[in-house]
Amino acid sequence: MLHHEISRREFIQRSAAATLLACLPSLSGGCSKDPASDVNVSILIIGGGAAGISVAARLRRRLEKATITLVDPAEKHFYQPGFTFVGSGVWQPDDIWMPQRDLIPKGVSWIRDTVVAVEADHKAAVLKSGKKLAYDFLVLCPGLQENWSLVEGIKKEDLGAGNAHSIYDFEGAAKTWKAIDEFTREGGKGLFTDTWTKLKCGGAPKKICLLSEHLARKRTTRESCQFHYYTASKELYDVPHFTPRLQEIYKERNVPISLNCRLTGVDTSAKKAHFLDTATGRTFEEEYDFLHFTPPQSAPDFVKKSGLGWTEGKLARESWVKTDKKTLVHLDHSNIICLGDAAGIPTSKTSAAIRKQAPIAVANLCSLIAGKAPEAEYNGYAACPIITDYGHVIMAEFDYEKKPDSSFPFSWMDTSRELRTAWWLKAYVLKPMYFRLMLRGWM
Ligand SMILES: Cc1cc2nc3c(=O)[nH]c(=O)nc-3n(C[C@H](O)[C@H](O)[C@H](O)COP(=O)(O)OP(=O)(O)OC[C@H]3O[C@@H](n4cnc5c(N)ncnc54)[C@H](O)[C@@H]3O)c2cc1C
Repeated sequence: MLHHEISRREFIQRSAAATLLACLPSLSGGCSKDPASDVNVSILIIGGGAAGISVAARLRRRLEKATITLVDPAEKHFYQPGFTFVGSGVWQPDDIWMPQRDLIPKGVSWIRDTVVAVEADHKAAVLKSGKKLAYDFLVLCPGLQENWSLVEGIKKEDLGAGNAHSIYDFEGAAKTWKAIDEFTREGGKGLFTDTWTKLKCGGAPKKICLLSEHLARKRTTRESCQFHYYTASKELYDVPHFTPRLQEIYKERNVPISLNCRLTGVDTSAKKAHFLDTATGRTFEEEYDFLHFTPPQSAPDFVKKSGLGWTEGKLARESWVKTDKKTLVHLDHSNIICLGDAAGIPTSKTSAAIRKQAPIAVANLCSLIAGKAPEAEYNGYAACPIITDYGHVIMAEFDYEKKPDSSFPFSWMDTSRELRTAWWLKAYVLKPMYFRLMLRGWM
C-alpha cells in the first residue's frame, strides 16, 4: 500500500540528519560526570513501555553505581502508534513489536511480574507473586489501564463480535483491518467513536475513521458506505491551531460529527450502538454495519489503591498519578518520578510526549539523588500526527498552552494542513527512531 517515491530516500536522509542534530545535546550531556553517578542507590522502574525503557537506558548510562530494576510482566513490547497502521492495512502485526528482552538495557535487572501495590511510605512495591521490592527512588510509568467493561455488552476478548472493533488492542487492530477491508468493499453504515475519559493518542479514533473513508473512495465504493463520527467531547479537537482544518476535512468528505455523545454500550447481536448525549441527557441507539470504538481509560488500579493518584480536580476521577506538571516529581513523595500515560498532567498521552519527558525525568531524578532540587522543566510538548488519508498527515505538535511546538523540520510549512512529508515521517522514520534512538535513550 505504501508507494516508494524517489524523493523518499532524500527525505529520510534529511530526517536522519535532523534527528542526529536534535540528539547532540543529550549525547554531549552524557560526557560530564554526573554528581549522582557515584551514589549507591537503588532505583525501581515500574513499567517497561515507551517511558520505562527510555528512562532505564538513560539512567544506566548516567549512574555508574545505581542498582536499577525494572518490573514488567509483558514479553512483547509494542510500538503502539503502529496500531493505527495495522488497523488500516498499511503494516502487518509483526511489523510493530519487539521482544522485551531485546530492549532491556544491559545492566538493568528485569523482573517479569506485576506490581499490585506501592507502599510509598515504606519505599517498597508489592508484586503479584507476593514478593516485596524495596527502593530508594521509584520511576512510576505503568502506562494506563483500558476499562473495556465500561462499554456494556462487549469484552476485550470478544472484540470483533457483532463487527464491533477497536485498534486500542494489538489483536483488535488486526481484526479491525479485516473488517475495514470488507466494509469498504461491501458498503454499509460505519460508526466511529472515541471515549469520555482522557485517552492515549486522542487522534487515533479520528485517524482510523478518515483512513477508512479514503479507502472507500480509492475502491470507488464511497457511495455505498456511510461514515459517522461520534465524539464524547464538546469539540472535535481541542488544539485550536489544528481544529479548523480538521473540521473542514470531515465536512469535505461528508463525515458528520456528533458532539457530546458517549458510547455506553453495544448490542453485538442486533448491531446497535447505545449512546448518551451528555449535553441533553438523552439516550439513543444507532444501528451499524461496522463499529470502531475506544475503551474508557484510567490509571492502573494499583495507583488508586496505593494512594498515589489525584483525589481532587479534573484528574481525580481516573486517579491519574499526582505529578508536578513541570518537574514530573510526585507531589506527595519526592522520591517518586512519574511520566508517560499514567502521569496526571494536562498533556496529550503520546509516546512523542514521552520523548520529551524522559530527559526531564532523568535529569530531575539525578538531581534528587545528588541531594539537589529538581530544576529541569517539561513544557507539555506532545505530538499527534493525524493521518488524514493514505499519504497525508497533519503534524500536530503542541505544548501545555496548546500552541504549535514543532520539533521536526516543518516550521516553514503550514503545519495546520495535511502534509505529504509528514506522512513520510510517520510511515518511514518514526518507528525506527522509536526503537533505535528513543528506547536507547539517545533522544
Ligand atoms: C491506537 C493507538 C495509537 C497511538 N498513536 C500514537 C501516535 O501516533 N503517536 C504517539 O506519540 N503516540 C501514540 N500512541 C500512544 C503511545 O503509544 C503511548 O502514549 C505510549 O506507549 C505510552 O507509554 P507508557 O510507557 O506510558 O505506557 P506503555 O507503553 O503502555 O507501557 C506500559 C508498560 O507498563 C507495564 N505495566 C502495566 N501495569 C503494570 C504493573 N502493574 N506492573 C508492572 N508493569 C506494568 C505494561 O506491561 C507495559 O509494558 C498511540 C496509542 C494507541 C493505543
